[in-house]
Amino acid sequence: MTDEPDLHLSEHVSRLREGENFTFACHPGVDCFTDCCRQLDLALSPYDVLRLSRELKISGKEFLDRYAVVEFEEGDIFPHVYLGMIDDGRASCPFVSEQGCRVYPGRPAACRTYPLGRGARRDENGCDHAFFVLLKEPHCHGFAAPDTINLELWIADQGLADYYAANDCLLSLLQHEKIKQGFRPSSAQRDLYLNTLYNLEEFGTRSGCGPSAMTDLALLRSAVDRLIETYFNERETTI
Ligand code: SF4
Ligand code: SF4
Repeated sequence: MTDEPDLHLSEHVSRLREGENFTFACHPGVDCFTDCCRQLDLALSPYDVLRLSRELKISGKEFLDRYAVVEFEEGDIFPHVYLGMIDDGRASCPFVSEQGCRVYPGRPAACRTYPLGRGARRDENGCDHAFFVLLKEPHCHGFAAPDTINLELWIADQGLADYYAANDCLLSLLQHEKIKQGFRPSSAQRDLYLNTLYNLEEFGTRSGCGPSAMTDLALLRSAVDRLIETYFNERETTI
């Protein structure tokens, strides 16, 4: 983990460095409990969908059909996947309840990371650089707690290491040299992106490296490598 030199941070956002302490605790006793599970744009990575769909005991494809919104706008390279909020007048997450998160063991990285934020980039030598910020938003009252924690403890407590490793794995596709040189996937290639990365267990079964034969991260790595090979070595747009 190395520092990102030029950050232009907005109000309520501050840089959090390795080992730096902050006070925070989130629990059912806070008066804002579950407020942050509403009215949010929650982007989902392939690994988020793998963990959520497994928690719900459905396929990645079924998860996308039932719970996700897929967006592709002019200027985008690949589609973006968001969690669809429900129409209850508060735009609530479909998994929030009075007692808290109903998919807690499989909750997405953004929910685990909050009130931190993480950015990452891969440099020209293939080295990943990550940096963290602390979001002290007025609606979040968890900062009033006396509990002291730091970045490393938070990442361990929230089980974030695999999520971050999965996001970094995607950079080899999303920041590939060919994309920097102007490669833009066709409609069929964008479908392949969704059908492969957001339906990983099915990809594993189809390609003979089923989920039981590989770790989740190895499965994702294999899917990313296959997409890179298919897109940039001009193979058939099926996997
Ligand atoms: S997944 Fe869980 S923690 Fe995340 S917004 Fe929904 S209810 Fe809240
Ligand atoms: S707003 Fe902050 S303290 Fe309140 S539930 Fe969300 S994370 Fe916890």
